[in-house]
Amino acid sequence: MDYKKYIKIVQDWPKEGVQFKDITPLMDDGKAFKSAVDEIVEFARQKNIDLVVGPEARGFIIGCPVSYALETGFAPVRKEGKLPREVIKVDYGLEYGKNVLTIHKDAIKPGQRVLITDDLLATGGTIEATIKLVEDLGGIVVGCAFLIELSYLNGLEKLKGYDVLTLMNY
Ligand code: IMP
Repeated sequence: MDYKKYIKIVQDWPKEGVQFKDITPLMDDGKAFKSAVDEIVEFARQKNIDLVVGPEARGFIIGCPVSYALETGFAPVRKEGKLPREVIKVDYGLEYGKNVLTIHKDAIKPGQRVLITDDLLATGGTIEATIKLVEDLGGIVVGCAFLIELSYLNGLEKLKGYDVLTLMNY
């Protein structure tokens, strides 16, 4: 399916110079959204995954229907202060300042096979931090799936050695 016709490009949002890729029109179309999720489900099905992990907030939108279809669990990765129980955390650099991501300490059991999902791969910082959280808990990252890759930002460089699926490329 040609998913790009469901992506709206918003100039200068959230700040000047950025061309934001808005996935909400894709989510708004039942058939297109199901087709995109189904592609990720098929990618993951052969990998015998135990768990899907996704960073807030759009990683949940992609990851939860995948986990539902495969009858696996889903574990959220969230910004600091959002998860109620004991967490582990990782700092990662942003263009300005830094960000902290966390996951519940008991979300993953050592040896579990994990698929990581997010809407979009840009510089790869978010996914690299998410991988670190999963691996610090002993999980095995068997794949990473995104709707969109911004290839001009070279995020794939940070994912060398991992099996990656992306449905659209800009
Ligand atoms: P990265 O860490 O630079 O790879 O940025 C990826 C993260 O930023 C993902 O969690 C995305 O949800 C978000 N993001 C960055 N740019 C966009 C965009 O154009 N559309 C939607 N999300 C974006």
